[in-house]
Amino acid sequence: MTIKHQARKRFGQNFLVDQQIISQIVSAVGPKPDDNLIEIGPGMAAITEHLVKLCPGMSVLELDRDLVEFLGEKFSDYPEFSIHSGDALKTDFAQFHEGRELRLVGNLPYNISTPLLFHLLGVRHLIKDMHFMLQREVVDRLSAAPGSKTYGRLSIMIQYHCRVMPLIPVPPESFRPAPKVQSAVVRLKPHKVMPCVAENEELLSKVVAQSFQMRRKTLRNCLKPFSEHLATASEVIDMGRRPEQLSVKDFVTLSNHINQSMNASETVTK
Ligand code: SAH
Repeated sequence: MTIKHQARKRFGQNFLVDQQIISQIVSAVGPKPDDNLIEIGPGMAAITEHLVKLCPGMSVLELDRDLVEFLGEKFSDYPEFSIHSGDALKTDFAQFHEGRELRLVGNLPYNISTPLLFHLLGVRHLIKDMHFMLQREVVDRLSAAPGSKTYGRLSIMIQYHCRVMPLIPVPPESFRPAPKVQSAVVRLKPHKVMPCVAENEELLSKVVAQSFQMRRKTLRNCLKPFSEHLATASEVIDMGRRPEQLSVKDFVTLSNHINQSMNASETVTK
């Protein structure tokens, strides 16, 4: 069946039309019949129609109601295929789990990609892997190593939770309408065993955010708001380094040091 659908800017709609890229995405995902596969933003089903043949029990989550209706008709021959109408940012992905790890796929609207990644990190223990089409610049930031220009808060917070694998570069011509930016498909796999554990994840996030407010300054300068908890920090981290030179593990070490000092001073004042 066909549909005349005018791409809607407010839903971030850039539909994939490049069959070669679509088949590369499908083989990168490698769906199995029993997978708990969920596509976010299936649109006009460019990727979905291939995924569903390999995984007939897959689910989709779409915000645009016109497309929800279209998808219902298009896949009426697949009784196990399920369609959810809603906003991925407001969706509790735990509801899809039912004892089976989630595999998420999506050519996402670029304006929601970062908040959605953070939303999904909240349920990372339920997720097996994620394959997302993102702005190439975002994929570069996700996968950046210490010392590189794109290394920052996003790189650290995502790499703390996941292994990041950039997979497929995608040019603007692969979409209709063509976006103004380059894109890329990335695979994110939440760590089964965390390589390093922050005693207080919220604090880690604050320390990282504070550090990158002034990425050219030394840690000692950047972290002035935490200075009362940094008196002995140089025993674990060289505070004369710049934040962009620190690995994820270094940030975790630093945040755990601050956390212990905070806990100790709380005990004293009690
Ligand atoms: N996957 C399709 C469509 C990509 S366009 C393809 O590759 O061709 C992005 C899709 O995400 C659109 O269908 C849009 O309606 C949907 N979308 C936008 N915001 C969304 C949100 N917050 N939650 C779920 N879907 C969303």
